[in-house]
Order: sequence, then C-alpha cells, then structure tokens
Amino acid sequence: MADIRVAVAGAGGRMGAANIRAIAATPGLKLAAAFDRSGSPSIGKDATVLAGLEASGVPITDDVDVALAAADAVIDFTAPAASVPLAEKTAAKGLIHIIGTTGCSIEDDVAIRASGAKGGRIVKAGNFSLGLNILASLVKQAAAKLAEFDVEIIEMHHNRKVDAPSGTALMLGEAAAAGREISLADHSVRVRDGITGPRVAGTIGFATLRGGTVIGDHTVILAGPSERLELSHIAQDRSLFANGAMKALLWVASQQPGFYTMNDVLGLN
Ligand code: NAD
Repeated sequence: MADIRVAVAGAGGRMGAANIRAIAATPGLKLAAAFDRSGSPSIGKDATVLAGLEASGVPITDDVDVALAAADAVIDFTAPAASVPLAEKTAAKGLIHIIGTTGCSIEDDVAIRASGAKGGRIVKAGNFSLGLNILASLVKQAAAKLAEFDVEIIEMHHNRKVDAPSGTALMLGEAAAAGREISLADHSVRVRDGITGPRVAGTIGFATLRGGTVIGDHTVILAGPSERLELSHIAQDRSLFANGAMKALLWVASQQPGFYTMNDVLGLN
C-alpha cells in the first residue's frame, strides 16, 4: 500500500516540529506538505530542517489549499481559529484530520464535530498520550466509586502556553464528571480568589500553574474525610503527543468518516 501523504499544519511550531519528526519515524507515513500562518517566520524554510532532520525539499507554505492538494491527511496542532475552518476544508476534500489544538470553545467543538458529520475523518483529543488517556479512564472510575470525595485538578505547563486550564485538565474534569454522571460545565470551579466561602460539595476544582519549560504535568486529587487519592501524569517529551497523533492517523485511515476521540483509537469506550 502507498504511504499516506501527510500535511503538517503549524509546521513552524513546537508540536509541528515534533509531528514532522514522528512522521519521518513512522512506516506508512510520508511528509507531503507543511504550512503555517502567513507572516510566520517559518514560511519558506525547509520543514524537516526546521524540525532538526535532514532536508526533505518540503518548504513551509502559507497557502493552505496548495498544502491540502498534496495530502491525504492533515496533522493540526495550531489554534482554534485555524482548526475550525481547516476542519471544514478537510471534510469537503474527504481528508483525514488529526486535531490536537486546545482552547476550543463549545461552539468551536460543535463546528468541528459537524465537519466530522459532513464527510471528514477527524480525531480530536486534548491529549494524545496513551498514559494520559488511561489516566482519564482511571479518574472516571475513581470519581464514580468515591462519590463523596472532593475532586481537584492541578496542571502545570511552560510559560508560553496561552490557554487555561489546559485541554488535558478539562479532559480529566470531563472524565470525573462522567464518572459522577454530572455536567462539567455546571459543576466546575475554574478560579478561586478572595473570600470564596466553603467549598461547594460536588464541584470539580481546577488550579493552573505556568512556568519554565514544563511540557505538561497533571494531578487529579480525590480528597475524602480522612484520606486522599492522587493520580498523576507527567509528560517528559513532546514526542509522546506526536506518537499518539501518528497512532490516531493510522487507526482512522481504516474507519468510516466521522468524528472520533482517543478513546475510540485506544478502544477505551
Ligand atoms: P506553538 O505556538 O509552538 O505552535 C503553534 C503553531 O501554529 C505556530 O507555528 C503558529 O504560527 C501556527 N498557526 C497559528 N495559526 C495558524 C493558521 N491559521 N494556519 C497554520 N498555522 C497556524 O504551540 P505548540 O506548543 O506547538 O501547541 C500548539 C497547540 O497544540 C496548542 O493548542 C497546544 O495546547 C496543543 N497541544 C496539544 C497536545 C495534545 O496532545 N492534544 C499536546 C501539546 C500541545
């Protein structure tokens, strides 16, 4: 079978580079195009050289249509304003679209899901790591069994991250809410400041730390009357997200068009 031709969106970014290295290391995948927003300093540079590999002759373009014309699949770790219209384009062309972008609003997610229903083959995940997705399923189980315990989620990321709480923290919050059969939107406490009063029972709290070059630390605390359970995940290298994205791409290539998550890829549903 011919290699799947992959275009990398946000090729000048940190995850863009990690995805380009992962494509080079994955049998069955071939880097076909790379693009970034117009005005990005990466435009015109050789995509693989920028990712620390040997030259491939694939320049980073700011013409998304040219990039998509050369591709069977797109890997997209960019920004919500880029991923939402890109999902429409990939669906219209029947391309695979792997989305790792975080910070999407509810409306953004509705629009991306709708593209999945219009012929797209989309996998979107707030975190593509295997360990983290296993953690989410443990959190769901623990939140259900320890129904009276207070759930608090702490995350730390590097000082250039622009959204908070992280997509992964929200994903863990969704897992806890699913275990309790409640809606996260109605029960989450995203900020505490000043005289907050006592903790409201049944809420799911978030705390955000930012600093240095931390790739992604997440801890879910389930605090009971005389004991505390802490479930943690530490990302040590961006390659783990990129490798998960490659796994998702290879998996969805043999699925029907639609919208999928990492739970589908890993058989955790
Ligand atoms: P980054 O800022 O290093 O890279 C983002 C890239 O996207 C930049 O090169 C930027 O120019 C580009 N971009 C922005 N708008 C664009 C557009 N319209 N078209 C094409 N390219 C565009 O950020 P990063 O650390 O690589 O993270 C990118 C995203 O991936 C963030 O949302 C981050 O939270 C998310 N992320 C997700 C996972 C996961 O497993 N799902 C893991 C790590 C990071």
